[in-house]
Amino acid sequence: MTTTRVLVTGGAGFIGSHYVRTLLGPDGTPDVAVTVLDKLTYAGNPANLDEVRDAPGFAFVQGDICDAELVGKLVSEHDEVVHFAAESHVDRSILGADAFVRTNVLGTQTLLDAALRHGLRTFVHISSDEVYGSIPEGSWPETDPLCPNSPYAASKAASDLIALAHHRTHGLDVRVTRCSNNYGHHQFPEKVIPLFVTRLLDGGNVPLYGDGLNVRDWVHIDDHVQGIELVRRSGRPGEVYNIGGGNELSNRDLTGLLLAECAADWDRVTYVEDRKGHDRRYSVDYAKIRDELGYRPRKELAAGIAETVDWYRTHRTWWEPLRPTAASAAP
Ligand code: NAD
Repeated sequence: MTTTRVLVTGGAGFIGSHYVRTLLGPDGTPDVAVTVLDKLTYAGNPANLDEVRDAPGFAFVQGDICDAELVGKLVSEHDEVVHFAAESHVDRSILGADAFVRTNVLGTQTLLDAALRHGLRTFVHISSDEVYGSIPEGSWPETDPLCPNSPYAASKAASDLIALAHHRTHGLDVRVTRCSNNYGHHQFPEKVIPLFVTRLLDGGNVPLYGDGLNVRDWVHIDDHVQGIELVRRSGRPGEVYNIGGGNELSNRDLTGLLLAECAADWDRVTYVEDRKGHDRRYSVDYAKIRDELGYRPRKELAAGIAETVDWYRTHRTWWEPLRPTAASAAP
């Protein structure tokens, strides 16, 4: 079997690092070599890759996906790209969208240009369910039009469509995944679950947006990684695959679960002014990846949340130094 050389962008972040640890871990994919390209922004953490640093076939390059020369060189040396790198926090995109457009749109375009030039075999683009907008009832199939609302979601929708355009126009083997909200260990402590958990563990209060009734579908990072690997290995060129967890929860119900896990009461919750343009509900229909590729979300929510809280409880040395760079209180 020949080795597949995979370039993973954003592999020092929350989901990308879990993907790399999984691929190169004891139950990982055989015969892959992985290079991580990551700029190490506030969200990128080299410690997330400590577990695989000495794995055969692992390499790390610090750099920017907008750097055409570096990207061209790296893409020419690899067979496949799995593209996670992005500015990923909605609240930061509301404060200023520059970095989002630069990295998420221009960076993706830079990678796709290099992929075309060097005849890359497969390009897996990690998109998001947020590109669809907000849905009052039912679930989005992949064929629904994109209707993003936040600057973050708009920049992800732009990159998603540019990636697909490279398939339709040039025949590049591009595959797109659109996943719902991820949770698990190693998530930067400004997103709702690690923000709430770290505050509760420290005896503080947590800020709940608006009426707390915004609904998200939660998927554990193990399941997201499972879906991405199915798409990378067996997906079809030019196709989009939604990935969901089957765990729709209002932010209020999620908060209740986190309070219970941290043995805290509702008096630790402060209702705060709603996020601007806050999407009410997300829900993806993931029948396509289930029926075509055999995807099944395996992590049961209560168990996954308990494990996640326990990880933060036992990994203070990981998150305490990150807190000063976290965006202000917000899910
Ligand atoms: P993250 O913020 O934890 O990690 C992003 C990584 O990208 C960081 O390591 C950062 O250093 C790197 N990066 C940022 N700008 C870069 C640049 N210009 N060049 C190179 N590297 C750069 O994000 P995450 O939550 O792990 O999300 C990863 C991907 O998955 C993103 O594309 C995101 O849109 C998508 N996604 C996330 C979720 C979620 O719930 N977190 C859900 C669906 C899709």
